[in-house]
Amino acid sequence: MSNRSPILAPLALAAILATGFGVVLAVLVCWVDQLVGNYLRAAQAETSRQVYVATNGTPLLQSYSPWDLRQVFHTLEGEEIVVPPGDRPPLLDGASLREPSQLVRFEKLPWTRRIVQFVPPLRPAMLWYFIHDGLPEGAGYFVAYDVKTKLCAGYLGMKGFRSERPSPGEWLPVDSRLMAWLTAFNGLTWYGGISRQMARGIPDPEMGPWRCYLISGDQLLEIDFKEHSVRSVLEAEGLMSLNLMERAADASSQVAPRVPPELSAFLALRMPGRVVVMHPHRAERRTYLLPDEARQRHIQFFELTGQTALLLMDRFFFGERTYLLLWIDPAGKVLRREEVVGWKRTAWNAPATRAWVSAAAVPTPLGLAAFVATELANQYRQAGDLGAGQYVASAFWVAWPALIAVTALSAGLTALVWRRQRRYGAAGTALWMVFVVLGGVPGLLAYRFHRRWPVRQACPACGETVPRDRDACAHCGEDFPAPSPKGVEVFAP
Ligand SMILES: [Zn+2]
Repeated sequence: MSNRSPILAPLALAAILATGFGVVLAVLVCWVDQLVGNYLRAAQAETSRQVYVATNGTPLLQSYSPWDLRQVFHTLEGEEIVVPPGDRPPLLDGASLREPSQLVRFEKLPWTRRIVQFVPPLRPAMLWYFIHDGLPEGAGYFVAYDVKTKLCAGYLGMKGFRSERPSPGEWLPVDSRLMAWLTAFNGLTWYGGISRQMARGIPDPEMGPWRCYLISGDQLLEIDFKEHSVRSVLEAEGLMSLNLMERAADASSQVAPRVPPELSAFLALRMPGRVVVMHPHRAERRTYLLPDEARQRHIQFFELTGQTALLLMDRFFFGERTYLLLWIDPAGKVLRREEVVGWKRTAWNAPATRAWVSAAAVPTPLGLAAFVATELANQYRQAGDLGAGQYVASAFWVAWPALIAVTALSAGLTALVWRRQRRYGAAGTALWMVFVVLGGVPGLLAYRFHRRWPVRQACPACGETVPRDRDACAHCGEDFPAPSPKGVEVFAP
């Protein structure tokens, strides 16, 4: 086997070594990178800010200083909101509404996204799960387990409660994209983290802990885990995400009242180009058209008084976080627009610096290209306003000098390979040069250390220093003289 291609085994070994060297190098560079980044951030003494909305609809900036760990709340106009130390003003729960159209479609959902757990508070007798079949135009059913006996307690499908698993015809259709992006159910569900509504208690008993809302095709369904019922509360095309939200109190009320006001809760539903606010048990319904700059983005939706909504969007871009706040009327007209910088970018986080640091961490043309196409491109993707091909192109556009430098370095390193191959009279020079062109610095290290190299000594015939792992000189071809007998040799008869 090894005789057929004597180069294949050492090449495979070198490839494994190159991967190992590459990982060690990347870890070292990332570690230094973090130290420098943290140092620069601390040296700037920059406070980072986060945007919240008070119960009366006033946006608040929470500043957080890395030095004294004190949280301070200000209005956009700079007025400080005084609250007891360690406390914060009562905040409004907006609805987080995703815009899934930009995201990739799953052919088959992973298990982690196919099961949703519902955890009603106060020691429930049963735990409910939604099980999705994982298919793109998929469907699913609810199943309950008894907390004490751990046995299956029944199922819930289109036609109500069953003790047997419902047949697929009774399953509730749910688009797998909504399952994947966690937008099919309202915020009272667990996909792995606790929702804010859950943590703060349910503001409206009518949408209380025993009920959840599900986007099923063009229907909004209300699932009641106590009554074991499923009913349709709205029919609308293109439902893509929903959440519970509170409606702001009167704008003239205090930002930080001693007693938080009673807020009314609603369901916010996102459809293409608009958000509908409704209550499933009352004939209340309000529609807000979304302005163009919000249509393709993930929004936090806050309904204020006086037919106004506040849209809060944030954007991460190479270590910089900026918030965009839009006040809109029901027709989608922007009444007011504010931008707030949450984290300022240091020079260390600038795209070009990132490209060069990546080149130091992954000094191989192939590896760096892969890194640029995924990690660096992902930073552009997070900015949220670039199309699928554009963010990869942007990443390569900023990284091309680093890519050329790494490629040139790797090409230069092949000179070292060529010299070593010649000095040791080793085979496969062209192949090893290609290996190092592709593998860069880790490739060269792997080439150097993947094998033992023979001792080199001067040839008695021509005087050149040549490898002594063979019978003849690699330079002049003369046979080396046999070593002089020491008198202890054993001869075969
Ligand atoms: Zn020689």
